[in-house]
Amino acid sequence: MIRAVVFDIDDTLVDFSGATGRGLLAHLATTRAVRPTDAEQYLALWRHLEQIHFTAYLRGECTFTEQRRRRAREFCATAGFPLGPEESETDAWVARYLEHCDEAFTLFPDVLPALDTLRHAQVRLAAMSNSDRAYQHRKLTALGIRDRLEALVCCDDVDGVAKPDPRIFHAVCDRLGLAPAETVYVGDRLDSDARAAIAAGLTGVWLDRTGDGQADVPTITTLDQLVRLLPARTVRKGS
Ligand SMILES: [Mg+2]
Repeated sequence: MIRAVVFDIDDTLVDFSGATGRGLLAHLATTRAVRPTDAEQYLALWRHLEQIHFTAYLRGECTFTEQRRRRAREFCATAGFPLGPEESETDAWVARYLEHCDEAFTLFPDVLPALDTLRHAQVRLAAMSNSDRAYQHRKLTALGIRDRLEALVCCDDVDGVAKPDPRIFHAVCDRLGLAPAETVYVGDRLDSDARAAIAAGLTGVWLDRTGDGQADVPTITTLDQLVRLLPARTVRKGS
């Protein structure tokens, strides 16, 4: 019996990649002319550095705030407009970037209908993310869905344990008072979301919004397919 669906947040509920890309370019455009060819290179560099420094944070090598600083400093140095040595200058640069991202964050259009339908089917709802709790709480609140989610578990809630480690999946199940077998986890990453959830004993579902992938796990391309998937598996309305 499935009793809860737990969602990844970034690029599952929230268009994180789209918003951070638009946020970065809007931020840069306040201080310099950004030609289209520059924009592509800036975005590629930003994504590359995001991967490097966020992974270092997940390995416990730095704080969430510090990985942002490192990314900003390396990005600006590589792009040819280095930041000064003062930490306050880096923090101000990051803060302006985040303000532009905040303005750009949106829910994917399938999110609210899926939450409504699952709730109607008496499925409990939660979110779990490798990112920072305060950041994710603020983002979900601004987008109007934090109070629709019974629980929010982030990496810093569990001493820095991050997906694909099964302990963070078990932490959100514990928060809900459910067994892993009663819980679905859905996310946009095949390995660290879907396969990791399955390895932890949950039903892992891969959200492949591109529709290009092929995998040996339950796969959906939009969240409304998740709703259709669940009753056929285990949800019984009202029980
Ligand atoms: Mg994600």
